[in-house]
Amino acid sequence: MYRIGQGWDRHPLEAGRQCILGGIEFQDCPVGPVGHSDGDAVCHAVTDALLGAANLGDIGRHFPDTDSRWAGANSLELLREAVRLVQAAGFRVVNVDCTVITEQPVIAPQSAAMQDALAGALQIAPDRVSVKATRGEGLGPEGRGECVTVQAVALLMASQGD
Ligand SMILES: [Zn+2]
Repeated sequence: MYRIGQGWDRHPLEAGRQCILGGIEFQDCPVGPVGHSDGDAVCHAVTDALLGAANLGDIGRHFPDTDSRWAGANSLELLREAVRLVQAAGFRVVNVDCTVITEQPVIAPQSAAMQDALAGALQIAPDRVSVKATRGEGLGPEGRGECVTVQAVALLMASQGD
């Protein structure tokens, strides 16, 4: 049996912040996402897609920003923990697709590295992880460069039975 889930996350972008998306640091990016953890909106959206597919609630339930354990956390670790939860519920990840909507950083040069990093956390082959990017075309907070928004879809398969 298959289960599908979607995730969505948005973080403000601020000058001088470290910029990590999909577990990869964009060293030359002048802005970075603001958040309780490292603000990695890609990992957060994928985490929520996994939890949604397994009907395990959302990222805020498992990793509350009131919990100092997750302050400044490496969001790949959150994603790994979500994979453990999903596996414990009897599922394995089939594939993940995500779209990053932002003016900065430019995603394309690092998308393969992001796919590798996400695939490692998801325990699947990199060709099962898609990272796409688009820009806001001047419209909305993404187009004004105020935030990074990420949409993700994850497909899970029951490890056994139907
Ligand atoms: Zn987030």
